[in-house]
Amino acid sequence: MLNTDAMKFKIVLLALVLMNFIAAGIFAQGKDGGYIMTVNGAIAIEEMGKTLTHEHIVTNFVGTDHPNQPFEDQEKAIEVILPYLLYLKSLGFNTLFECTPSYIGKNVDLLKALSQSSGLNIVTNTGYYAAVDKKYLPEHAYKDTAEELAERWLSEWEGGISHTGIRPGFIKLGVGSGALDSTEQKIVKAGMVLSKKTAMAMAVHTGDGAAMEGQYHLAKANNFDLNKLIWVHAQNATDDERIRMAEKGIWISLDGINETKLEEYLSMISKLKERSLLKRLLLSHDDGWSVEQNNDNLNLKLFGNGNSKPYRTISEKLVQRLFKIGFTQDQMDLIFVENPKKAMAIQN
Ligand SMILES: [Zn+2]
Repeated sequence: MLNTDAMKFKIVLLALVLMNFIAAGIFAQGKDGGYIMTVNGAIAIEEMGKTLTHEHIVTNFVGTDHPNQPFEDQEKAIEVILPYLLYLKSLGFNTLFECTPSYIGKNVDLLKALSQSSGLNIVTNTGYYAAVDKKYLPEHAYKDTAEELAERWLSEWEGGISHTGIRPGFIKLGVGSGALDSTEQKIVKAGMVLSKKTAMAMAVHTGDGAAMEGQYHLAKANNFDLNKLIWVHAQNATDDERIRMAEKGIWISLDGINETKLEEYLSMISKLKERSLLKRLLLSHDDGWSVEQNNDNLNLKLFGNGNSKPYRTISEKLVQRLFKIGFTQDQMDLIFVENPKKAMAIQN
């Protein structure tokens, strides 16, 4: 009797857990059927709100030749960084995609702590970075096939990054300038294999227009959905190159918005508007901190990329200028809410 009761209880419990699981799944899918995977789990794309698709929190540029220095003083990092994330939230932004790849100091525990204390949705990534003379590539990246690399990254999607259980929400890769070499081609192919399996978007740090051209041809040859491809640092190319790729359906990420180059960015954005291509545009600052060694101490140093304070220039400078030259609120919503949803949604 006791056994039967215990059994019944277990069955009820199991059913409840299962119902919860299904309900959470439906909820996370949202009414358009899409979700994003944040460091705290899946949320419906309707909850993303205003979004920055290319920023950093903490990076470490020491490279794979040297032992990577983890910035373990989480309290110190939170003390330095949290005020800027809270301020970003007060500016109306709700979601930030953190683009620091593996082997460049990606620290997902810190991202989770900062997401929970700021209330900002933060999304981390999987994939490798083959730009900057392969300084950040692990040894196995040379021996693995594209499929083997995709398998490694898939295990992060399925089981979380290292011991953390925190799952990536997009694929972040890096290639240099000019025609893609064989390692770069392999990494891009691996990203396409993974994106097809998981529906994650693939954001590729790209040195110049020629390196994008190479990715476009690889994508066509592999029957890859161009709507899943984000051209990171598209500002390193010409208007014609950007327009050509945007017309093909690739996302154009102008992600170095800064105080010293506002005019250049206004011009690049206007050129896309003239061709009715704002629907392919993503804007961000590429702000963040790097870990620096000072004698025996590790310190956090703000990127010196033209922004005296991180994550603010778009809200406090660029948007006003865009309104002045005739952009509408609907166009702002397109760029900061609708486009990030379409670019980053996982639908499966
Ligand atoms: Zn970046």
